[in-house]
Amino acid sequence: MNWDQIKQEAITHLQNLIRINTTNPPGNEIAAVRYLSEVLKKEAIPHQIFEPAPGRASLVARLKGNGSKRPLLLTSHLDVVPAEEKEWERPPFSGDLADGFVWGRGALDMKQMTAMELMVFLAAKREGLSLKRDLILAAVADEEAGCKWGSRWLVANKPELIDAEYALNEVGGFSLPIDDHVFYPIGVAEKGFCWFKVTARGEPGHGSLPHDQQAVVKIAGAASTLGTRPLSYHLHPVVKKFISFLASHQKFPRSLILRLLNRPLLAGFVLKKLFPDKKQARSFHAMLHNTAAPTMIEGGRKVNVIPSSAFLQVDGRIIPGQTVESFLDEIKKVLGDGSGHCPFEFEMMEQANPSETDFDNGFYRLLTQSLIKHDPQAIPVPYLIPGFTDAANYSRLGIKCYGFTPLKLPPNLRFSDLFHGHNERVPVEAFLFGLKVMEDVVREACA
Ligand SMILES: [Zn+2]
Repeated sequence: MNWDQIKQEAITHLQNLIRINTTNPPGNEIAAVRYLSEVLKKEAIPHQIFEPAPGRASLVARLKGNGSKRPLLLTSHLDVVPAEEKEWERPPFSGDLADGFVWGRGALDMKQMTAMELMVFLAAKREGLSLKRDLILAAVADEEAGCKWGSRWLVANKPELIDAEYALNEVGGFSLPIDDHVFYPIGVAEKGFCWFKVTARGEPGHGSLPHDQQAVVKIAGAASTLGTRPLSYHLHPVVKKFISFLASHQKFPRSLILRLLNRPLLAGFVLKKLFPDKKQARSFHAMLHNTAAPTMIEGGRKVNVIPSSAFLQVDGRIIPGQTVESFLDEIKKVLGDGSGHCPFEFEMMEQANPSETDFDNGFYRLLTQSLIKHDPQAIPVPYLIPGFTDAANYSRLGIKCYGFTPLKLPPNLRFSDLFHGHNERVPVEAFLFGLKVMEDVVREACA
């Protein structure tokens, strides 16, 4: 295999994919799907395109194996979040190659993975790799808005096309330097979500005659309660392992501070008072608690009229082991009056239960070994993703999904700062590292 050519092609595909604006909404993933389709056609690789709503397209391709093992799914989403162009040093859809980076929205979330997976897929085909398992390539729509037209649609309508034993997906596999150590979190679990609307009812009236049954005041109280009172603490086994891994590579007293996070009664205090890095504290808080962020509030239409209703929209996130139902019960208790009664009405908008994958298996070990092979300093650690990804849907088919988009980032570049941030970009070296790791994993798992 001509590795130099593969590298160059991969970079070009990444640049071209970034230049196709798939901001969601509206998504328009069909443009990126057409691009992939052209590439696959040139290599005579059969594939299918699905467009369940205008412009909202996903593509699935397959290389057949001999069937002795169940398939491996290489998946990515093609949509990206909006970018505020004036905040960027380079236009967000330039795909520029400059200063050793490929720039643009999607460089880390997650067109770099689309390009890597595509290239590994093409290389397997060109080389005529004899596969023990089918290799499936899926590039899907709409992840950033809840997956309705992408992975969720595929799982509901074409499960046979994507069903696999394992899947490689986003959020994980990137380097996370802490002090002198380079950790590589691998996503093996993710929080569920529950987007819901709370309605407060009250007595209408004239603004000149306020009273104690005002809907706006009630809903403001609910927002304030959710915004200031932490929800329940849940120490998931993956988080416990993650924390003890980090702690075992830290010096005293940091090692002790980390270990105290495993204590339900101390974790809150430790995060608030002993964590110097507020961003880190926020991440750990999210890994240890259900959360509910009030994000939209609405009520009243005129300054001198007391309205009879007011509304709040809340983004709830759920630790694996809980369900959407148990989470809502918790919310009702927090917003209740203490006697078991909750004075608000609830309406579900979107939801997905949490998901988790076992990581005591040969495939997970292969992921860790491949990272270590290409970065001998790597310390892979299992990781709970505080957000949700397409894995929430795939895992309903029993697919074991891993957050694994390998990137060896320079120490001054934090994945979490650029993910959905301004000036999203990927170092070319980090990307090529990922390509090598992916190629290794696919070869070992399939050939
Ligand atoms: Zn993403």
